[in-house]
Amino acid sequence: MVTLTAVSTSTARAPLVIPGSIVDVAGHRFGSGSLAMIAGPCSVVSLEQTLRVARKLASHDITMLRGGAFKPRTDPSRFQGLGERGLAILGEVKAATGLAIVTELLDVRHLEAVLGVADLVQIGARNMHNAELLKEVGRCGCPVLLKRGLAATIDETLGALDYIRAQGNTRVVLCERGIRTFETAYRFTLDLAAVPILQERAGVPVLVDPSHAPGRRDLVARLSKAAIAVGADGLIVEVDERPEAALSDGPQQLRIEDFGEYIADVSRIAVAEGRELQ
Ligand code: PEP
Ligand code: MN
Repeated sequence: MVTLTAVSTSTARAPLVIPGSIVDVAGHRFGSGSLAMIAGPCSVVSLEQTLRVARKLASHDITMLRGGAFKPRTDPSRFQGLGERGLAILGEVKAATGLAIVTELLDVRHLEAVLGVADLVQIGARNMHNAELLKEVGRCGCPVLLKRGLAATIDETLGALDYIRAQGNTRVVLCERGIRTFETAYRFTLDLAAVPILQERAGVPVLVDPSHAPGRRDLVARLSKAAIAVGADGLIVEVDERPEAALSDGPQQLRIEDFGEYIADVSRIAVAEGRELQ
């Protein structure tokens, strides 16, 4: 674990668990000091697409695949994800590749189906304030990736985390994915200072999503490197085979053929920081 010396100016909330906890997800030890890498498409669109991306990621030693089956879209007329069919595809890809699966849970009604395939259940930014959903994943005891809300303060993020932990589930990893500010030149403002503050105050591993914040693929490597330098416990990055044809978040997704170069690039900063890629 990296040593953190950031000083919090707020004393509003005491963490429920001791700082520095390690969260085990299918043998991946988040918060153990090495850098966790989760990669994959924004949306699962077909078995062929997901399998091809997964195999290429595996060839770069990636062991955790992200992919959305249930998609929280701003515009209800846009692609909403393949739903249960998407989960089935993730299940097939998991069986074929052995990759651990990270996928989003949008609704308590889908919990059982999501748990059937997910090694790490993602609660997305738009659901960070959904208390009933948080309680449910708290009760199920499954590993949870909780993303900070679009306009959530640190205290509100810690409140959401405590909804889960209050049910006895301490297997939670947080994720800074950019917040809404006055700035409109890019999609969201990546709040890197939140990383050490959340690590210190929550006592759980904190990942960074360098894809949703800028909304532009050309900034993903730079923000990833900044995240590593600030001490993030890992990255969750979007990558697809034909992002220009993607049904969601095309402009921010890395091209799979560029992924090797991306990994080599971010690895240089990881090595400089004395961190190993998991
Ligand atoms: C995602 O990771 O697929 C996603 C929708 O992210 P967020 O909840 O951070 O917008
Ligand atoms: Mn996305």
